[in-house]
Amino acid sequence: MLKVYNTLTREKEEFVPVKQGEASIYCCGVTPYNHPHIGNARPFVTWDVIRRYLARKGYKVHYIQNFTDVDDKIIHAAKQEGVQWSDISGRYIKSYFESMDALNVRHADLYPRVSETIPDIIGMIGTLVEKGYAYPLENGDVFYSVEKFAGYGKLSGRKLEDMQAGARVEVDGRKHHPMDFALWKSAKPGEPFWESPWGQGRPGWHIECSAMSLKYLGETFDFHGGGSDLVFPHHENEIAQSQACIGDEKGFAHYWLHNGFITIRNEKMSKSKNNFFTVKDILREFPGEVVRFFILQTHYRSPLDFSEERLQEARTSLGRLENTRACIKELSKLQGESDTAKELAAKAGELLAAFDEAMDDDFNTALAISQMFALSKEINVYYQDVTSGGKAFDAKNFAVAAKAYEDMAGIIGIFEQEEAGGDDGLVEKLMELIIGIRQDARKEKNWAVADRIRDGLKEAGIVLEDSKNGVRWKKA
Ligand SMILES: [Zn+2]
Repeated sequence: MLKVYNTLTREKEEFVPVKQGEASIYCCGVTPYNHPHIGNARPFVTWDVIRRYLARKGYKVHYIQNFTDVDDKIIHAAKQEGVQWSDISGRYIKSYFESMDALNVRHADLYPRVSETIPDIIGMIGTLVEKGYAYPLENGDVFYSVEKFAGYGKLSGRKLEDMQAGARVEVDGRKHHPMDFALWKSAKPGEPFWESPWGQGRPGWHIECSAMSLKYLGETFDFHGGGSDLVFPHHENEIAQSQACIGDEKGFAHYWLHNGFITIRNEKMSKSKNNFFTVKDILREFPGEVVRFFILQTHYRSPLDFSEERLQEARTSLGRLENTRACIKELSKLQGESDTAKELAAKAGELLAAFDEAMDDDFNTALAISQMFALSKEINVYYQDVTSGGKAFDAKNFAVAAKAYEDMAGIIGIFEQEEAGGDDGLVEKLMELIIGIRQDARKEKNWAVADRIRDGLKEAGIVLEDSKNGVRWKKA
């Protein structure tokens, strides 16, 4: 039974889908005005694993993620560079995909953009004005009236009275309540704008996610996600807008999942603190799968401290899992009818069940990965037994263990880069050729050539190991 921690109820709840056999997800995307940083990457890697796991459990998954392509920061960046706002958003949407593709994040079913959703946004604001939840001002701004929505504060656990007391300075005297927020902003000179019943302008930030999720997932759907910094005000406001619009205080998203921050030496990452790491920069030093694995070694709700040392550790750990995969590949080429892997197959079944159990417990990838390490260890032992000649090979039962290992890797989202690299086994073929030449040299007692090949490969970061089934190679 899958249980998820719901920010709305502050409890772990059993997942009961709105539509049987389906799972619908809306995750807040990025504002494309710069290259995504490691903190941006966390929710998308997290939801990528959640999607994979829901699919493994048999759900048909619908996943929507937006791009806030009209925004103050984008407009500002465009002015500074003297280009169009769409040049900035277009450039960084491209950068978003480059970074996320490197982290094996699968694409959403749909990426709606604000600039392409304006009629729906205007329609929704119109409904909120009609129903008395929103009020237009003379200048063309439209505000949401938080006092009109009884449930305001239910997601973040804040009370409106406290928020009012907390708002020391009345920033905008035109608002009915200091927490009222803009649904529509009247156009300022030189900014992009669209025609609306309230004059030329553009949407406020929060309304887009309400309009997009209702448009593409319907009035009630399963999951809404994002970083924990979005709980207030963004998601609180989304609930207020959406439930008021559809007239259902139980409607809209059922489960609200929020991932923790990424900190750098225990400080929240920000540009002003100068501890801002883009994925692009990190990828110069580390493969994308290492970055992904690093993120998933911690439960998504826990804070995650980022450092080069921890990335190094993740690289080493992932290397161990990759090594086991090389052993699996090697053994899988062999034939053999015995029952020497019967115990291994049984153990693999247990560990896969434990892996699923960890994922069922609010997607505990940290615990799930530890089950994969346990299986890796079992497979390594069997590999040693077979290659040392101590055991006959058992192809049938070994395949069961290999399949369990692949299933785990498929959820964590690792071992995908060499396939994605598309070398069509070229490296494998070349290595076979080189190893063959070295074997011939050794047979002819041409030690100079044999040593030269071994040393040259070592320099290239490849070590050769002799085993009963011949010579195998691995990355050092
Ligand atoms: Zn959003």
